[in-house]
Amino acid sequence: MSESLTDLRNVFEKNPLKIDEAKAAGQKVVGHYCLYSPMEMAVAAGAVAVSLCGTRQDSIPKAEEILPRTLCPLIKSSFGAALLDSCHYLASSDLVVADATCDGKKKMYELLGRMKEIHLLQLPQNQEPETAGPYWAHQLEKLRDKMRQKFQVALSDDDLRAAVRLMNRERRALKNLFDLSKNARPPYTGLELMEISFKTSFLPNKEDSIRHLEALYDEGARLAAEGRSPVAEKAMRLILTGVPSGMGSHKVTRLAEELGAVIVAADNCSGYKKVTLIMDEEAAPLREMADRYLALPCAVMSPNPGRYERLRQLAAEFRADGVIDLVWQGCHPFAVESHSVREFVKSELGLPHLTLETDYSESDLPALKLRLEAFINR
Ligand code: SF4
Repeated sequence: MSESLTDLRNVFEKNPLKIDEAKAAGQKVVGHYCLYSPMEMAVAAGAVAVSLCGTRQDSIPKAEEILPRTLCPLIKSSFGAALLDSCHYLASSDLVVADATCDGKKKMYELLGRMKEIHLLQLPQNQEPETAGPYWAHQLEKLRDKMRQKFQVALSDDDLRAAVRLMNRERRALKNLFDLSKNARPPYTGLELMEISFKTSFLPNKEDSIRHLEALYDEGARLAAEGRSPVAEKAMRLILTGVPSGMGSHKVTRLAEELGAVIVAADNCSGYKKVTLIMDEEAAPLREMADRYLALPCAVMSPNPGRYERLRQLAAEFRADGVIDLVWQGCHPFAVESHSVREFVKSELGLPHLTLETDYSESDLPALKLRLEAFINR
């Protein structure tokens, strides 16, 4: 077991206390649900910028008392945690920054807004630089105005630039860690990397997050150089694409690795999408943030060409043997796009491909296991 990972787990346990301490010291807390909501803004405002809960099954039954049962589990999990008041990060948030990623989410935010102050960013549906770019920059400008007024801060371009530099350091540290999986025998499993990315996103202090990521990288690089790895020599190297997943919604990653494969790269929101947000520190910060965030290749964008290019790049760099496309039940954007992804992976990358549509429950574990077993042992 990695010492640095044990260290992160211990720190994560005390996270709620750290948030309370920050609040007691007068710091504001800003919660974020989705990768399109730029954390730089909260960091630049001197607030604690944290992710919010949305990966647990146990809050879903409560959400289903109000929301349709057929809705995506990520949306139900987030809303259920709010109803149950079981997410300390949400309870601590002075403001939630959310974005109109998909229909289910934006309608859920209308209900959540009755319990919590939300600033909703109206995300465009395409990435056209001439039209969507200025529109999205205007949305970020409105967010800046909101934070200036709410937190009584200047939030100047220099403040934003400093936040961009800090977040760049965090993303570079995470990318270095992810890139260790390019080794023939990665020093961390895909599940461990998911856990690291997930847990550091809840740490209230970005410097702490960077310190943990750098320590994990140093230890991983040393293990790789010594040829020590938890991954079997002939393990099937897989790319995980598709919907966001994290600790609590990690069953496909866990099952695939228990069956002898390794997820060498995830192109989802807690994986590579996150580290492609490294920005030009000399550019006008707000427009740079707008351009970079808008370019994120999520299935809610139509068209979404960046997803295919990212898959091509990851498959080559990580020498993938196959691709798993994860789709949450009730997620129409990723479900429809899975057809094109399958065609692309098979014809352009020449790799085996498996689409898995599931939810957060454990009820389909035996069926998932059978399909993964057949895919990995093909
Ligand atoms: S996984 Fe799909 S349905 Fe769920 S929040 Fe994301 S885009 Fe929306």
